[in-house]
Amino acid sequence: MLKNNMSVKILFLNSGGCAWGKCLFCGYGRIQGKNPSADGLKKEFDSFFSGLDGVSHVKVFGSGSWLDSKQVPGEARTYFIGLCRKGGVKKLTVESRPEFITKEGLKEFKDIDFEIAIGLETADNRILEKIAKGFQVEDFAAAARTVHSAGGLVRTYLLVNLPFVRDMEGELEKSVDCALKHSDSVVLINLLPHGNCPLFGMWLRGEWNFLNKKEFLQIVEKWKNNPKIEFDAETFRFVPKFPRELRDSLVGVGENFLTHPHFEVWQNYLVRWYNPGREIVLFLPCSYKKPYSESETHRGIAGVLGGLGLRGSIHEVMLSNAGLVPREFENLYPFNAYDWDERQETEEIKGRYIEVTTRRIEDYLKAHHYRRILCFLKYDSESYQALEMACDSLDIKFTNLLSKKTYDKIKDGKRPLQSEEGLSDLEAGLKDEAVQV
Ligand code: SF4
Repeated sequence: MLKNNMSVKILFLNSGGCAWGKCLFCGYGRIQGKNPSADGLKKEFDSFFSGLDGVSHVKVFGSGSWLDSKQVPGEARTYFIGLCRKGGVKKLTVESRPEFITKEGLKEFKDIDFEIAIGLETADNRILEKIAKGFQVEDFAAAARTVHSAGGLVRTYLLVNLPFVRDMEGELEKSVDCALKHSDSVVLINLLPHGNCPLFGMWLRGEWNFLNKKEFLQIVEKWKNNPKIEFDAETFRFVPKFPRELRDSLVGVGENFLTHPHFEVWQNYLVRWYNPGREIVLFLPCSYKKPYSESETHRGIAGVLGGLGLRGSIHEVMLSNAGLVPREFENLYPFNAYDWDERQETEEIKGRYIEVTTRRIEDYLKAHHYRRILCFLKYDSESYQALEMACDSLDIKFTNLLSKKTYDKIKDGKRPLQSEEGLSDLEAGLKDEAVQV
């Protein structure tokens, strides 16, 4: 429901593609959807409206411009507006770039309240040029005037934390003032990196970084009581998605395969954005086989967790040269694509592994306050040593569910963590924890 008690329904339009498609931060605009035919769209619109009852406000989201006839043929637009009227919809919101907003085109909206959302992003022409927006502030202002003179409303999107900004606060003040001057509502959006756009590469190269939700809300806080301004801290479910062309070969042992930027951005994401949503963590070893869950060791562990009904409720996090890897991400690049052959390890790189992993665990545990920290690790492994050092330095307790006594008995076996005795320890330890889950 909206503040004014209007019930809202959103149509996500998969039609054509953005006529521009070049904005530095936008992956959606680079996707060319199927070629739209008016008839195909009419069918889509019919199905959207079937069973739609009591909706008074429809918003159409589709990267690009509703008013671009190549993306949405005029015949289909008119049909859609007719369906809105018939269905008792009082207000329609669509998105458009300024160049498609014309006095003539806006006549389509007769008899319905309409709102045009425009992605201005910033009111600084220098930055608009740098981010390849393809229009200037003056174009936006002229389009806003056209909408207003046709009786419509203007909704403006601004991006917070754009690259190339020298003074974020000053830039934002200026952009908000400009947007408010020309708009009826303004949305401040936290800029996050889509996988398939140049901004993602800038993130990997350390030239730009995202704001976490808290940082974003601190920056925009001063506008929280302005009824014309809304905040959007997460416009899409943000998980680092590496496009194929940016992926590296990660097979080898050495510093580059320990602190590779692709591992580092993930660790940064896990600390600054991710929310584990569970109270108990179980640190586990990695495995040569990827994804880890296909290895014998992990099958055994999963069998024990599954048998106790604890899969999912206890948070499994693997420790590896790629960093900390929560189970739910194990099949994503780079975690499913690296190989670190222990046989090639030198004493020096083992030392670096402990150092780097200790730092990563510390950062992770400082950000996420689990009620219980468990592990199932070999006592003489570098991962165990790193966990021990991290917990010592944070002054927090952890428990290895593999007892020392059992480990002394099985450590000379080929795969101690796959042994019956080892897995029995895990089961017994988890049973105790299960009581507390
Ligand atoms: S931000 Fe908008 S105009 Fe720019 S490429 Fe994306 S969809 Fe197109």
